[in-house]
Amino acid sequence: MATPKENLLDWLNDAHAMEQQAEKMLKAQAERLEHYPVLKTRIEQHLEETLGQQKLVEQCIRRLGGSPSMLKDMAGKLMAFGQAMGGMAMSDEVVKGAMSGYVFENLEIASYTVLIEAAKVAGDVETQQACEQILPQEIAMADWLRDHLPQITAAFLERSANPHTEAKR
Ligand code: MG
Ligand code: FE
Repeated sequence: MATPKENLLDWLNDAHAMEQQAEKMLKAQAERLEHYPVLKTRIEQHLEETLGQQKLVEQCIRRLGGSPSMLKDMAGKLMAFGQAMGGMAMSDEVVKGAMSGYVFENLEIASYTVLIEAAKVAGDVETQQACEQILPQEIAMADWLRDHLPQITAAFLERSANPHTEAKR
């Protein structure tokens, strides 16, 4: 068995690992993008948000008695997931990257939705408020990606059909 607080701490550790993965993915995408400046700018904006989210989640972990070594330990757990999404040497990496980003943001939305409820049950108002602050940023990024997928796709297809332009990033 485990108390609500113990489960909450576990899930906060998972969320912290998830945000470290998010940082890696967003950084890699922003660095590689050349021909899609609107997407690049939005990714850079969400990268900044992600660094703030990491700090908020870390504060919650420490308040509940979690330790930095635990953070490192958990960070490996989502590595495989990140690597699966990070393989971006494809000819259509901008499209695949935007799709993967949308999937990842929805994982984050699910995670913070669970954390908010767990924090409520555990009576941890500060963690609840931190997660309620983060959740809208993930929703906004997911919405933005879904709204812009058609544009990104159209721009990619146009560049791809032109022998004089690079399309993939
Ligand atoms: Mg996030
Ligand atoms: Fe996110």
